[in-house]
Amino acid sequence: MIVTVKQGSNPQQVKRLTDWIKSLGLDVHLSEGEKSTVIGLVGDTSKVDIDLIRSLDIVEAVTRIQEPYKNANRKFHPEDSIVDVSGVKFGGKHFQMIAGPCSVESEKQVIGIAEAVKASGATMLRGGAFKPRTSPYAFQGLGLKGLEILKKAREATGLPIVTELMSERFIDAFAEVDMVQIGARNMQNFDLLKAVGRLGRPVLLKRGLANTIEEWLMSAEYIMSEGNMNVVLCERGIRTFEPYTRNTLDLSAIPILKEKTHLPVIVDPSHASGLSRLVKPMSLASVGAGADGLIIEVHNDPPHALCDGAQSLRPEQFDDVVRAIDVMLPLVNKERG
Ligand code: PEP
Ligand code: MN
Repeated sequence: MIVTVKQGSNPQQVKRLTDWIKSLGLDVHLSEGEKSTVIGLVGDTSKVDIDLIRSLDIVEAVTRIQEPYKNANRKFHPEDSIVDVSGVKFGGKHFQMIAGPCSVESEKQVIGIAEAVKASGATMLRGGAFKPRTSPYAFQGLGLKGLEILKKAREATGLPIVTELMSERFIDAFAEVDMVQIGARNMQNFDLLKAVGRLGRPVLLKRGLANTIEEWLMSAEYIMSEGNMNVVLCERGIRTFEPYTRNTLDLSAIPILKEKTHLPVIVDPSHASGLSRLVKPMSLASVGAGADGLIIEVHNDPPHALCDGAQSLRPEQFDDVVRAIDVMLPLVNKERG
């Protein structure tokens, strides 16, 4: 249940109201934005007398909400959240480009790519050290050694790093990572979500291969309910009946999420399409749909990549995508960086 307080209400009256709500055994989530103050009632509101609250002088409106997510809900937090990842800001007018290889292969490879994508305008470096592969016989990633390589690339370029945590077993090693990626296959690994909630590092939460937007937001809720509000959502395509692309990019998820949540939303056109030639058009479409950034796979030698070569751009192709995005950003009132 959401209570919207009349503009200009006296803070003491607001406090009296929140104290009374708390006395009913409910938690209160108070959001004082520039334009309005809203009180979120968290807990079992079934016994709350909605008409009584409506009748109070300071109350503008009372809405019962259907959505089961509270912390992630835009109704509780009307302004866009800005998630700060070591100085790189997601949300609002910011538009961020994250780029790097699918997997960390060697120090030389990662640093070379990091320098190239930084020169083109990338503000963060991606790269998997722990890889969730469909086949147990495929390259599984360099693990902890890969994390060390990413940290060296961060030192060499100044780019913050985002990399996937697959198991709680390695969570201590991720305390020094700028942003922890929860991959599509782990979107509903609830223990892992709670653990990254407790870890407190910013989280990039990818959408599951076959999950609804509401399920995805409930996963964000798991992280946020542990006190970690720094969650960025990443649409990476969902499984449909269409075999011409690896996944189907659900572009409409972006404006829907913008209605439902205050959390930033970025798009991964690489995994969404599986084809390098689709990355540029899908990137531009994502900008048009209102995304707050992109995460793109870039490799120095895609035909020889150990993972996802077919969807990886060469550095010069990445540069071309960034130039095209720069033409579009003023139209959606966003700025890169
Ligand atoms: C990745 O980013 O390399 C990855 C495995 O992505 P996803 O979890 O979206 O498949
Ligand atoms: Mn990949």
